[in-house]
Amino acid sequence: MKIRAAVARAREPFRIEEVELDGPRADEVLVEVEACGICHTDLSAKDHDYGTPLPAVLGHEGVGRIVALGEGVTRFAVGERVVMSFGACGRCPSCAAELPAYCRHARDFNLFARRLDGSSPISQAGRSLTGHFFGQSAFASHAIAAAHNLVRLGDDLPAPLMTSLACGVQTGAGAVVNVLQAEPHDAIGVFGCGTVGLAAIMAARVAGCARIVAVDVRAGRLETARALGATEVVDSAQTDLAAALKRLGGLTLAFDNTGRPEVIEAAYNALHPRGRIVLAGLSARGASLTLDLNRLMASGRSLRGTIEGDADPRAFIPRLVDWYRRGELPLERIVTTYPFEQINEAAADMLAGRVIKPVLRMST
Ligand SMILES: [Zn+2]
Ligand SMILES: [Zn+2]
Repeated sequence: MKIRAAVARAREPFRIEEVELDGPRADEVLVEVEACGICHTDLSAKDHDYGTPLPAVLGHEGVGRIVALGEGVTRFAVGERVVMSFGACGRCPSCAAELPAYCRHARDFNLFARRLDGSSPISQAGRSLTGHFFGQSAFASHAIAAAHNLVRLGDDLPAPLMTSLACGVQTGAGAVVNVLQAEPHDAIGVFGCGTVGLAAIMAARVAGCARIVAVDVRAGRLETARALGATEVVDSAQTDLAAALKRLGGLTLAFDNTGRPEVIEAAYNALHPRGRIVLAGLSARGASLTLDLNRLMASGRSLRGTIEGDADPRAFIPRLVDWYRRGELPLERIVTTYPFEQINEAAADMLAGRVIKPVLRMST
């Protein structure tokens, strides 16, 4: 079928064009996309050579309605509403351990953006386009998604607010709940207050953390962080970060999504004995840390990374929806919607920090 999709070419604006979409294969569904969030990973894939073959249809936070089922799909029905999360095979050891973010084939689906046989459901003028980004490619009117990625959504839930449960919000909340397993006695620092960091702050409030320290270089973000649950804020453009963290009495937990070595080192150095830091930000290629190894050993600290907050979307997204319904995940505070046609304005506003989570509406 002919669909409209935002085609990404290296370092050019997105262009909304007509492309051809194949029908769903076995274990796939066809989704009419209602809305899709823009995540930094989309823009990195387009402009920073992270390995996604271009031209491509990107977009990996899609929400929509199933309009056709491929062979063997029994968990879903036509007409059901779903959020499309990241790709995973469902069969490898990580998938079996309910840690699909570490799927053996994660790079195929989420970076190289192809099915396991290398094919793509999207083409244009007889030429294949990269079209299975995070198992969906949802910057489009319709998407072919792997059934494995899908989580059912109630019809009453607003599509634009649900999109980032697929990736950004899942990552931040998952890092706090699944990886750091924050508890009421914790003093947690959140470094970088975009969608992922603000989701971490909301999750830390749900966990009842005694102190939630938000760090960013933009005063507006810190105001939002306070409104969402931060008990203290540090504007690291205005003050020395290490000294500020020391004045605040240090941290038991830290979550970085800046990917900046100097920030991560300051966060690490502020940890109490047995403190834990988890990293979720994309760093510059080749970035490395300088840590005092004796201090690492003697203080019992730990440092680790996470993808998608170690979440299994099929269990974790319903939990996030419950938080939203209870008013504990006020996503309306971070989302700004744009018509699909304004994808370039939306991306520019995100990069300039004018909005936190831009979301494209495919249907009006
Ligand atoms: Zn797998
Ligand atoms: Zn993402």
